[in-house]
Amino acid sequence: MKRNSKLKRRFRKITFITIIIFLFFTLVGSNDINYNQPLQNSATINNINTTPSIPFIPNQQVDEKQRFLATVTHQISNLPQPNTYEYILLRAYGAVLINQQPGVILPPKVILDNEQETQEFQSNMRVTLVEGTTECFLQKVAADAFNKARNIVNISLKSGYSGDCTRSFATNLRFWQKYANSRTLEQVQQGKETKILGVVAPPGTSQHLWGLALDLRVSNPAQRQALNQNGWFQTVENDLPHWTYLGWDEGSLPKFGLKDKTVRGVTYWLTPI
Ligand SMILES: [Zn+2]
Repeated sequence: MKRNSKLKRRFRKITFITIIIFLFFTLVGSNDINYNQPLQNSATINNINTTPSIPFIPNQQVDEKQRFLATVTHQISNLPQPNTYEYILLRAYGAVLINQQPGVILPPKVILDNEQETQEFQSNMRVTLVEGTTECFLQKVAADAFNKARNIVNISLKSGYSGDCTRSFATNLRFWQKYANSRTLEQVQQGKETKILGVVAPPGTSQHLWGLALDLRVSNPAQRQALNQNGWFQTVENDLPHWTYLGWDEGSLPKFGLKDKTVRGVTYWLTPI
């Protein structure tokens, strides 16, 4: 009898352990699937996440889109999914997400939902005034780089007001409402309207909210060269005055998948998605 109940207990113990092991692998397995779903076309991302490096340079053997998405995944937690409004925004404004300059912070997602969320993000930025201005704030690293460019050659802000630099959610919204309305927003969200993105950013989506963009009056190659040498590039197609601080030299941009496109003599560095 004693021996029998001992056997029974042992049998229950083994059954219990087997169930635990089975549950463990089921959970790990399903996590794996969820985690990999957005990244199906990039076999390299898993390797990269387990061996973080600073700065992060994606595997150069994969194509531009995969290099870009691997970099973005490394930088922000929520990678937008194809065929969503967020993905459209990532395509239009996401070039800045390759920035890895120490001291620069990036938004956790491509849309800041309201003024409060914008202020929360901006309160974590280390900002400073662009030299010679009283209201043009940028993230400090971006401002320092711009000041360096301006030590080489004179470059004017577009309007001279704070709107050229870091904006509040309200200013982003005000600019949007000057050019567009809720109908336009719907069309952008559905992927039916994209040209407006080169004119004005929808509410909560401007690179100007992130303290890494400037609107400038640039008219000659020397100015362009000084800006490029200091990590500033044009990254929003057809938004001529708009400059973005990427923090890399021009030769490095393709490593992260950015593609150059020349439109009417102006070279833009665009996302490859
Ligand atoms: Zn701008």
